Amino acid sequence: MDDDKAVTLGVTRRFFLQGVAGSAVVGTALPARAVEVAKLGERSIQVISDGGFQMPLAAISRGVAPDELIALLKAEGLPTDVSNTVLNVTLIKDGEDWTILDAGSGNNFLPGSGKLAANLEAAGIDKTKVKKVIFTHAHPDHLWGAIDEFDSDLFPNASYQISETEWAFWQSPDVYSKLPEDRHMFAAGAQRILKAIAEKTTRFKPGQEVAPGIVAIDSAGHTPGHVCFAVSSGGKSVLVLGDAITHKAISFLHPEWKSGSDTDAEMGAATRKKLLDQLTTDKLPFIGYHLPSPGLGRAEKNGNAYRFVAGA
Ligand SMILES: [Zn+2]
Repeated sequence: MDDDKAVTLGVTRRFFLQGVAGSAVVGTALPARAVEVAKLGERSIQVISDGGFQMPLAAISRGVAPDELIALLKAEGLPTDVSNTVLNVTLIKDGEDWTILDAGSGNNFLPGSGKLAANLEAAGIDKTKVKKVIFTHAHPDHLWGAIDEFDSDLFPNASYQISETEWAFWQSPDVYSKLPEDRHMFAAGAQRILKAIAEKTTRFKPGQEVAPGIVAIDSAGHTPGHVCFAVSSGGKSVLVLGDAITHKAISFLHPEWKSGSDTDAEMGAATRKKLLDQLTTDKLPFIGYHLPSPGLGRAEKNGNAYRFVAGA
């Protein structure tokens, strides 16, 4: 890592960690086991934790009056100084083989995250049986765990898939000019990991069936090539949301509020509203990467807003 990147890393770590000194990092105590959240025919959908971390409130909403934000968080019984988030990695078991949707944070992101490898081992899941790794997007907490601490593939027998827009965005020469400075380390990290896995990676377009019964759904906004995955089998489906919907209160009560972690906050809000509309109309269960562990829930319409209901 050169000096510039080290400085940027410091900026980002400060951004994420400001105001949280001394508080326990959430996620470290999450159980090291895989939870089966749905059974679709013969197909088992499970969630395992990559840990969790804390973010400043600025990361969850942008441009909202602080009083209004704090009142909402208080009413929901949530902390008003920081946002605690967990990382729910979805695993799909077909016979002996596993497909994993996002690869966790690895060892170089934030304290409290990067628990995926240890948790898979504790859960008795053999990493060599993971045959496909499919990414919703290339943010650190979804991509960086693809490579272990020795710079080798965490899943040696897996192929990788990512949307072609996402692949191109993070590797374009002008990516730094499209990101705020505190996100430059996201690009440096994405370039490093995407380069390391390039030979085993194929690109897809939204709308494509990327694997049997797994369809990529365009949900750009959080990042330019962000996708969700509709996972189906035996006539049943679950939508794996990635980071299109991230907060159990704000994303549902105020989907129109701009998120501080979306690359295009306006597009992110429009995508969120569209998805919530579809999820309530179709009564579709979903798994949110950052929703309360294990991330499974449904959305209910509540006037002009929505409400998150945990569980199937
Ligand atoms: Zn994320």
